[in-house]
Amino acid sequence: MTIFEKIIAREIPAKIVAEGETWLAFHDISPQAPVHVLVIPKKLITRVGAADPEDAAILGTLLLAVQEVAQKTGILETGFRVIINHGRDGGETVPHLHIHVLGGRPLGWPPG
Ligand code: 5GP
Repeated sequence: MTIFEKIIAREIPAKIVAEGETWLAFHDISPQAPVHVLVIPKKLITRVGAADPEDAAILGTLLLAVQEVAQKTGILETGFRVIINHGRDGGETVPHLHIHVLGGRPLGWPPG
């Protein structure tokens, strides 16, 4: 069981921002910007490159959840970045799909 499944099960605490039937959004424990929220499916999808066609609805719902998170955290107008890390070179550290939502300051480009 990953740390994110434990957060979904409320076995370990997290600062929850918003929740839907199929997803959960909470503040990253090590924020890289003034706003840094993770949006995850409650269903275990390990990583974006391992999602199945049957996951299409939940994947779409996650992006709509991003919109809700941006609105709730006050960065919808100022702007934000959405990141999904996949695998070694992507910097993935938790094998449970998560969308990073970063904002609250100008973000550099290209990313590191
Ligand atoms: P990744 O590197 O896999 O794309 O992102 C994993 C993210 O999960 C990291 O930004 C890390 O700070 C965050 N994280 C790891 N453990 C915890 C935790 O226990 N609680 C919270 N809220 N975030 C975590």
